[in-house]
Amino acid sequence: MPEPAESTLPEPGLRRGWWLREALDAEGNPQPAPPLGERVECDVAIVGGGYTGMWTAYDLTERAPGIRIVLLEQDICGGGPSGRNGGFVHGWWDQLPVLIDRHGPDGALEAARASETAVRQIGEFCARHGIDAWFVPAGYMQASASPAQDGSWDRAVAACRALGVPEAYVPLSAEEVQERCASPRFRGGVLMPSAATVHPALLARGLRRVLLERGVVIHEGTRVHRMRSGGPVRLETGGGEVRAPQVVVGLNAWAAGWPGFRTRLMTWGSYIVLTEPIPDRLEEIGWTGGEAVTDSRFTIHYFRTTRDGRIAFGAGVGAAGYGGDIGRSFTADRRAVARAAAGLRHLFPMLANVRIDDAWGGPIDISSDRLPAIGSMHGGRVHYAHGYSGNGVGPSRLAGRVLAAIVDGGEDPIAHLPIVGVRSRLFPPEPIRYIGARMIREALVRKDETEDQGRRPGIVVRSVARLPRLLGYRFGH
Ligand SMILES: Cc1cc2nc3c(=O)[nH]c(=O)nc-3n(C[C@H](O)[C@H](O)[C@H](O)COP(=O)(O)OP(=O)(O)OC[C@H]3O[C@@H](n4cnc5c(N)ncnc54)[C@H](O)[C@@H]3O)c2cc1C
Repeated sequence: MPEPAESTLPEPGLRRGWWLREALDAEGNPQPAPPLGERVECDVAIVGGGYTGMWTAYDLTERAPGIRIVLLEQDICGGGPSGRNGGFVHGWWDQLPVLIDRHGPDGALEAARASETAVRQIGEFCARHGIDAWFVPAGYMQASASPAQDGSWDRAVAACRALGVPEAYVPLSAEEVQERCASPRFRGGVLMPSAATVHPALLARGLRRVLLERGVVIHEGTRVHRMRSGGPVRLETGGGEVRAPQVVVGLNAWAAGWPGFRTRLMTWGSYIVLTEPIPDRLEEIGWTGGEAVTDSRFTIHYFRTTRDGRIAFGAGVGAAGYGGDIGRSFTADRRAVARAAAGLRHLFPMLANVRIDDAWGGPIDISSDRLPAIGSMHGGRVHYAHGYSGNGVGPSRLAGRVLAAIVDGGEDPIAHLPIVGVRSRLFPPEPIRYIGARMIREALVRKDETEDQGRRPGIVVRSVARLPRLLGYRFGH
């Protein structure tokens, strides 16, 4: 698949992504909340102003109005992946086989149902608080775009049928796929009807607004340098310190650099290109229903439409990161942008002349089984959720509920969902993790690109792409 000339593509990383620019414009580009500049105490301190941290804060204010919460964010709330993702909101029906392996049929069903409820609850939150975050419950269609991708959903479909929920994940014929989105590459697919899309940054910034209205104290531009856990937990920042009996960390990929989490996560980049508005062309493709769509590569292409008729087209093709160092390779990788653009032109060759207006990227927190870890440490005083592995918009809503219930004493059954407290398999320490991840990552992208062209990858690429599975990790081919 030829990569388009990079000079014709927007330079990534020079400014915030389109979603967040839009959302901040709609707010009149407010000043960030003031950084922490003193020593304070509170009931619960939260590190990270993405969905995980903010949903937890929101649910705590629901459970205990008046609770004193301080939230610390190094950038602005929604400045991380929560304000620049693809906006796909879906549960774990596609993950049902691995959930069954981990928790048995009943536990798997309970977890998948909870993840589906989370999707609905995001829509309910928006309606309740007057947040127009473009919540569109039009479902998620996964298509096959090459013979190698055919039927990649079969096990999950069979698992849904076996557990009595065939409606959760429904196979589609080639014609049914074409009716929803007529890419000449699509050969068949599957639909998760309970899924939705959102405008990710309007959701994140709407959450921030509600938290401020509820008295949550937010400090932006405030990086936590160190956490000390003897006695009340202390969070040290450049300008101050927060002491709290309970702390929640919602750090996403940055957790890969924190003690206790370092060997639980790897980081990979994901990039999105955004077309100019093309509502007429979307009509021609028949893609007017608002579905979230992906192909079935491992380094997945994911795409959805916007209200003004653009396509936001993402690709999980960024490079692997070193430890928790979330640097420019996650925001300024021109090669990843070119690869995402090539994916768009490949799946929609009729859009070859469509202009690309913006491009941005961000880090993904990969766990070894590609499901999030939600749990507690330091004698039950520090709680965490991360490892969403690129599917965190819906699951972080669930994680927020779980974390708030744990902080609140753990009596609510949601605090004991089977997914809580599961620690996934360790990755090797650095630098082995980085060297291995880079090599495997490149092999996975190359394998997917070769198969997109209808060719079989060479033996070396195939062998390296297979390595993670052979080593017992749940990614790769
Ligand atoms: C390009 C891209 C596309 C994606 N598309 C989708 C999608 O379509 N659907 C989906 O479900 N998921 C998607 N994801 C993943 C999804 O965005 C994340 O899973 C989700 O946003 C996780 O929320 P979070 O709050 O855990 O993390 P974040 O939004 O990353 O929030 C963590 C916050 O912690 C802050 N922080 C880090 N370290 C510190 C510190 N030391 N002190 C203070 N603050 C700190 C960061 O600045 C950040 O704001 C995508 C991700 C990317 C990058």
